[in-house]
Amino acid sequence: MSNNALFYLTSDDMPVVSHADGIYIWDTKGRRYIDGCSGAITCNIGHNHPTVKRAMAEQLDKIAFSYRTQFESQVALDLADRLVDLTDGDLDKVFFVGSGSEAVESAIKLAVQYFVAKEQPERCKFVSLRPSYHGSTMGALGLTGYEPLEAPYRSITIGSVKVPSPDLYRYKETSIEEHITSVLEQTEKAILAAGAETIAAVVLEPVGGASTGGRIVTKRYMEGLRALCDRYGCLLIMDEVLSGMGRTGAWFAYQHFGVVPDILALAKGLGSGYYPIAAMMARKELVDVVGRSGGFMHGHTYAGNPLACATGLAVIDVMESEQLVSNSLKQGSYLRQQLEQLALKYDCIGNVRGIGLLQGVELVRDKTTKEPYPAAFNAFAKITSLAKDRGLLIYPRRCLNGLAGDHVLITPPLTVTVADIDEIITLLDESLAAFGQIVLEREAC
Ligand code: PMP
Repeated sequence: MSNNALFYLTSDDMPVVSHADGIYIWDTKGRRYIDGCSGAITCNIGHNHPTVKRAMAEQLDKIAFSYRTQFESQVALDLADRLVDLTDGDLDKVFFVGSGSEAVESAIKLAVQYFVAKEQPERCKFVSLRPSYHGSTMGALGLTGYEPLEAPYRSITIGSVKVPSPDLYRYKETSIEEHITSVLEQTEKAILAAGAETIAAVVLEPVGGASTGGRIVTKRYMEGLRALCDRYGCLLIMDEVLSGMGRTGAWFAYQHFGVVPDILALAKGLGSGYYPIAAMMARKELVDVVGRSGGFMHGHTYAGNPLACATGLAVIDVMESEQLVSNSLKQGSYLRQQLEQLALKYDCIGNVRGIGLLQGVELVRDKTTKEPYPAAFNAFAKITSLAKDRGLLIYPRRCLNGLAGDHVLITPPLTVTVADIDEIITLLDESLAAFGQIVLEREAC
C-alpha cells in the first residue's frame, strides 16, 4: 500500500494522530500537542469527554439514523428547544444541517425563499464583508470575502456585494468612531448602488474568525447595520459558525452587542468535534411565511439525525454543568492579558484582538507603520510550524494584500485553566523567539 491516495495530504512529515484527552492530542510517535486552537476552533469542550461518549453510545444503542420525513426524533425536538432557550427566545425556529457551510447555505436559501413567498423575488442579492469567510459550498463561498479561496470560482458562485469590514487596528480615519461612521456610510452607498429593493440580506460574522484573525466590531456598528437592514427592508444574517456556542464568553457573540439577527448560522462548537452537526436558527415569522408558501425547499439527508442531536444535547449539558461559557470569558481575559504581555516583548506582534477564548494575534514586520511581512515570507506558516515543533497547535491565516497581515488564532477548548494558558503562553513565547531569529537572519541577507 502506498498510502498516498488522500487528496488533502499536505506534507510528508504530517504527524499521524493517535488519541486525545482534554486539551491534549498525541500522535502515533508518542508526541504530545496542546490543542491551542481546538482543531479548527471546533472542540470547545475538549477531547474524550465521558459525558458525550456515554450519550453517543446510548443513542447508538437505540438508533443512529432516522429520516426526518418519516419520524420525529425526541433528541432533535429537545435540542431545538435548548437552542431557542439559549437565545432567550430571540430566535424561535431551528433547522439542523451537518456543517457550517450548509448552515450558511440554508440561511441564504431561507432568505431568498422568504422574499419569493412575499412576492418580492427581486430581493435575491446579498451584502457581505471583505475580509470574511462563510464556507466552501457555492453559496457560502460567494459571500466569502477572501480572494485566495473565492476568486477561482467567481464564474460559478452567486457572489455578493462586498463592503469593507470594520478594522479597529488599521483604520485610516482619526478615531474608531469616525471609522465606523465611514464603514457604515460605504455600506449604505453599496446597498443603494446595487438597488436597495434587490437586497435579500446583509451577512456578517459578529466576531471574525479565520479570515480576519478575531477582528471585533463595535456595538454602534452592529446597531448601524441593523438599522440599515430595517431601513431598506432586508434581513440581517449572522454567521456564528465559529463564534457561537460559547466561544466568545456568551452563548452567541451577537449577545455582546445586543443586536439580534433574523437568521443565525451555527456549527463547530455545537458538536464540539464529536459528530458533525450544525444549525440555522430563524425568527418564526420568516419560517411561517415560507411554510405557508409550501414549505422550505431545502434539506440534507443527515439533517437532524438522532446521533447528531444526542451529541449536541450532551455537549450543551457539559457546557452548562462545567460553566464553560463563563469560563471562556474569564480565561479569555487572562489569555488576552498574557498575549498583550507577549506583544510588549516582541516587535513582530502588531495587534491582539478578540473576545473570550477567540483571540487573534496579527504579525507585522514593522510595529510603528503596521507594515505586514511580504506574502512570500509565509510568516503565518513559519510561526505555526515553530509552535507545532514545540508541541503547541495554533490556527494560521496568510496575509491579505492591503487588508490584513499574517495572523494566528489562539482558541483553546473552553475548559482551559490558568495553568493551561500559562503552558500555551510559554510555548508561544519560545516560538516567537525562534521566529524573531528567522526574521533577523532574513533581514541580514
Ligand atoms: N462560517 C464561518 C465563520 C467559519 O469559520 C466556517 C469554517 N471555518 C464556515 C462558515 C464553514 O464551516 P464548515 O467548514 O463546517 O463548512
